Formats: sequence, structure tokens, C-alpha cells
Amino acid sequence: MEVLTTVAEMQQLSRSVVANGGTVGCVPTMGALHSGHASLIARSARAHTATIASIFVNPTQFGPTEDFSTYPRTLERDIQMVAEHGGTHIFVPSVAEMYPSGFSTEISVGPIADILEGASRPGHFAGVATVVCKLLNAMLPTEAFFGQKDFQQTVVLKKMISDLLLPVTFTVMPTIREPDGLAMSSRNRYLTTEEREQAITIYSALLAGKELIRLEGSGVRTSAVETTMRQVLESVPEIRTEYAVCVDSTTLESKNFVNLDNGMVLLIAARLGTTRLIDNMVIGDA
Ligand code: AMP
Repeated sequence: MEVLTTVAEMQQLSRSVVANGGTVGCVPTMGALHSGHASLIARSARAHTATIASIFVNPTQFGPTEDFSTYPRTLERDIQMVAEHGGTHIFVPSVAEMYPSGFSTEISVGPIADILEGASRPGHFAGVATVVCKLLNAMLPTEAFFGQKDFQQTVVLKKMISDLLLPVTFTVMPTIREPDGLAMSSRNRYLTTEEREQAITIYSALLAGKELIRLEGSGVRTSAVETTMRQVLESVPEIRTEYAVCVDSTTLESKNFVNLDNGMVLLIAARLGTTRLIDNMVIGDA
């Protein structure tokens, strides 16, 4: 397992893999790796000669009151985990390597970055789009792997890659969950024992929304689905819901009625204590 820290050595490595007839898969992460990240690494390792996991806690995607300084950093364990799942390289740039003094360019993806997560976390997606674009330019992958867990992020990045003609295949992999249904997240470790138990209510709310759609089919009001999800969330008073919506899965636009032909997604963001959790369910998925 090779750990690379500079953009120059990273690009050189990728170019030499491709020059030798190989392909490169990459998995951008912020570290504190869990089985969700591992599934992306393993999937890439099955398809590509080299699989690079990047670990970079990107300061520009955190708001001033968010958890940048306390975000879990577990590099030694992460290196082991990448190796165990078939990764061949880890790219761990410093903040100075990614944002040298004088850096000022930012990618703005338009209105889709301003709703839902973007409304709760102003500037978040400009930070994400800019750093992912830079990481792709550093790792020069054939294919980049992302998790459906961050659904809006996948929509934003798909748009950036398409709008900017970035020469990379963009692949989204399903959300990996704990046995009780809680979506795996590096932030789950912030939860107290009690909050950890309460957190599964987010998954229960998604299941309740999905069940209503299964029973009523296309034509059910999205507001009814949203009310159902909120009622489940409200059954645990400690959960502070930021949003619980049923929207078009391509545009994330609100719709009056569920239309299964177009594809819908249920999206929830909620706080438990000091921890902010997000989860989603695409209607039609298992
Ligand atoms: P993060 O380290 O949280 O920035 O996540 C890095 C990548 O792993 C992103 O593409 C995430 O969507 C993905 N990811 C995070 N949690 C999960 C999960 N539970 N299942 C699948 N992918 C995930």
C-alpha cells in the first residue's frame, strides 16, 4: 500500500498505470472509513488495475459552526482498511497541497446546490464540487465511485462532470447500512448510546414513506408521503428534523404527486444532539 501526498506524484502514478495499459478507479473520502467506503473501494478494485482512495477532510465544505476541527481522523486504521478491500494507493494531500496560498477559483453548479443540503449548509456544494474536481485532476481516474448515501451530492457531481466534460465515468453505489438499518456514516460515532438507538427512526421514516407509496402507487400526494415521514420522526422528540421530502430524483424538484415513471427520492436531514444525519431512499430500490 503506497501513501502519496503530492499532486505531482499522484498524477505521475496514474499516468504510468494508464501508459502500461491499465485503468484507475478512485474513491474520494474524508477518511474515518467504514463499510460504506469499503464497498466502493472493493467495487473499484474488482474493475481497475489501480484503486486510489483519497482521504482529505476538506475545510471549504464545512460551515463556520460545523465539525471540521473535530471530524474523526483515523489514518492508520484507514490505510489498513483500504488495503484489506483491494485498494492499491492512498492519496492524502495536506490542506496546503490542495489550497496553496492565493487559491481562489470555485465551482458553482447552479440552483441545485442551493436547495435542501445547500440551504441548510450554505456554500457546502461549492466546496464539494471544487474539491472533487481538484481530486479528479490529481488522481486522473478512469472511473470515480461515490455513495448514494449522499444523494444530492451525487446529483451535483454528476452535473458538474457532465457540464465541464470531465473525462471520467461516474458511478454511484448503494448505501451500506448497519444491521438495524441506520446508514453507515463517519459521524455516527458522535452519537451517544441513546441517540444511536433513536437514530434508526430516520430509516423507519423512510420505510414508512416508501410503504405509503407502495400502497397508494403513482398519484399519491407527495405532501401525504412527507407527513407520514414527519409523523414517524416526531415520535422521537429528541430528533430535530431539518427536512423530510419526497422529490423528483433527477432534478430534486418538488412535485405535487408521486410519479413513479419519473423516479422519486425520499430525503431526510435531522439532528440528534449535536450530530447531523442525512439519509435517503430512492423509490423502486430494494
Ligand atoms: P465521506 O467520507 O463521508 O465524504 O464519504 C466518501 C464517499 O463514501 C462518498 O461518496 C459517500 O457517499 C460514500 N459513503 C458514505 N457513507 C456511505 C454508506 N453508508 N454507503 C455507501 N457509501 C457511502
